[in-house]
Amino acid sequence: MLLSVVVPCYNEEEAIPLLVDRLLAAVAPWAGQTEIILIDDGSTDGTWAALEAAHASHPEVRGLKLSANRGHQIALTAGLAAAEGQRVFMLDADLQDPPELLPEMMSLMDTGYDVVYGKRAQRQGETPFKKLSAWAFYRFLNALSDVKIPKDTGDFRLVSRRALDSVLQMPERSRFVRGMFAWVGFRQIGVEYQRDARMVGETKYPLRAMLKLATDALTGFSIKPLRFATRLSFCTLGVSALVAIYVFHSLILYQTAPGWASMLLAMSFFSGIQLLTLGIMGEYIGRLYMEMKQRPLFFLDRETGDYQSETFADIEAETGRRRQAR
Ligand code: UDP
Ligand code: MG
Repeated sequence: MLLSVVVPCYNEEEAIPLLVDRLLAAVAPWAGQTEIILIDDGSTDGTWAALEAAHASHPEVRGLKLSANRGHQIALTAGLAAAEGQRVFMLDADLQDPPELLPEMMSLMDTGYDVVYGKRAQRQGETPFKKLSAWAFYRFLNALSDVKIPKDTGDFRLVSRRALDSVLQMPERSRFVRGMFAWVGFRQIGVEYQRDARMVGETKYPLRAMLKLATDALTGFSIKPLRFATRLSFCTLGVSALVAIYVFHSLILYQTAPGWASMLLAMSFFSGIQLLTLGIMGEYIGRLYMEMKQRPLFFLDRETGDYQSETFADIEAETGRRRQAR
């Protein structure tokens, strides 16, 4: 197998027919040596039926269904783990990343690159809030992290087998795939492209999911927030030294230090800082705990072509047969 295409899909039933058409056209030069792996990330709409239909008419399309919704990064990881190709091309299901860039990426890889990533020159049809938050996020992340993570780069890239195998060796549970590919090193290059608007459907990344991705990225690639607490303590000690001078000064001069208001202010300021520091520590401790449990990242429910029928009895019989075979 020369090329694997990996696409995570969560409630993308309307996008899949178009996606499959455009992918098949893009991989046409490598037809016969290409597999297209679509991961159904525990969708609640007709995504799985769409994947089975795609598999029925194009056997090179493989659908894998996760046992539950695990989120974009885990669904992507599941697909990467299943890919058999020498090169692996990953993109979103909503066609915001144009599959037509594949030939250019393939020829760049021919010249010796291990990772060719898409760099968003422009974003169409996204809210000003999303553009601004993404812009700020990538800059903030790079300021904090020791790894240089390419700016304005999502999960649209072509990677070599050895780059992929390196990433697959990384066992962490909270995964920030684009950072992990940056971290493994090798020769990397970006290709600029226009990020289109979503073809159909709406974003599967609510603010909550964006915040989770951002904290995964920050905590996964930097421990600077922890050191931030120490710096902060120096600053607040400095501030309280100044306040102390002021207080003693007025005690000596006027026999009184005015102001319960300023005291209340100082108290709430310092307890705010303490809670913030505790929160940062808690974030890392919680992550330690999650990592320590070593739970599998995902479970596969089924694969296209597995079962002729979807009744429970059939699935159970098939699972039994497999267990016997093992
Ligand atoms: N996705 C997923 N699981 C989720 C959420 C999203 O597999 O829980 C997939 C989704 O189907 C799409 C990709 O992740 O292929 C990116 O999601 P989306 O386009 O909604 O994000 P945005 O482009 O708005 O940031
Ligand atoms: Mg999208």
